[in-house]
Amino acid sequence: MIKFFEKDPYSPIQYVYEVEKVLYKGRSAFQDIMVIQNPYFGKMLILDGVVQITEKDEFFYHEMLVHVLMHSHPNPRSIVVIGGGDGGAVREVLKHDLVEKVYFVEIDEEVISVSKKFFPNVASGIDDKRVEIRCMDGAEFIKEKINEIDVIIVDSTDIIGFAKSLFTVEFFKSVKNALHEDGMFVTLSESLHFHRNMVIEVQEALKLIFPIVDLYTAPLATYAGNWWTFSAASKKLPLREMRRQHKVVTKYFNAEIFYSSFLPLSVYENLMNKELSW
Ligand code: SAM
Repeated sequence: MIKFFEKDPYSPIQYVYEVEKVLYKGRSAFQDIMVIQNPYFGKMLILDGVVQITEKDEFFYHEMLVHVLMHSHPNPRSIVVIGGGDGGAVREVLKHDLVEKVYFVEIDEEVISVSKKFFPNVASGIDDKRVEIRCMDGAEFIKEKINEIDVIIVDSTDIIGFAKSLFTVEFFKSVKNALHEDGMFVTLSESLHFHRNMVIEVQEALKLIFPIVDLYTAPLATYAGNWWTFSAASKKLPLREMRRQHKVVTKYFNAEIFYSSFLPLSVYENLMNKELSW
């Protein structure tokens, strides 16, 4: 069987996947796009040689990216999803009936069309009438918004190339301005096993802008380092409190997962201390 060797930009090891079939291979204005069929993970979306989602385990990532803050925020109605061209984050946001508006800001419209074709169950919410698609850099989009949004979610590719604009202090400032008074923000921030320094950098940059910053994690099979982190920030409300009941249908996320996903404070503080080696 042919093999796909993943070219993760910051991983010290290489992942190898069996390929039953290459279903799609192309190049957009921004990146190489490939869809393969793997015997265990099912269809896999690969951008610039890096695995983005798999049919088998995408729900772990999308549920954890979205539902933690959607339950910490008391009243999330207006949402921005930046990146997430596969539609998985949008699908999870739309499970919340009180959501009125979702700005879906993906730089590469070809990722959206490939996902609609090959991952219809993931892309299922993209055409919902509450969703407004904007094909542009999320950092530019967010500058236009002032005091308008309840929750901003970044679901980008790794912190490299055009995704870097979503991890700067300037971007985090615009995010803060775009949020309502009780607004919240979450972004992927790589893994604690392989990318602890990057996690610390994201956290430190957020702490320059937001009064409340925290970190939660989830175990993910296909992201390098597996102990995946989500960096969250809030303008006013502490993040570790579930302010809404869990009613949406999920496979992994629930109230116990909400609370256990945040690292114990002692572990969090040690991990974020650059003086301590791990
Ligand atoms: N869950 C995946 C992961 O963590 O690897 C990410 C999936 S999603 C397909 C990532 C998307 O982010 C890509 O489609 C990419 O085009 C988009 N993206 C990267 N940088 C962006 C930016 N600056 N603005 C908007 N979208 C961006």
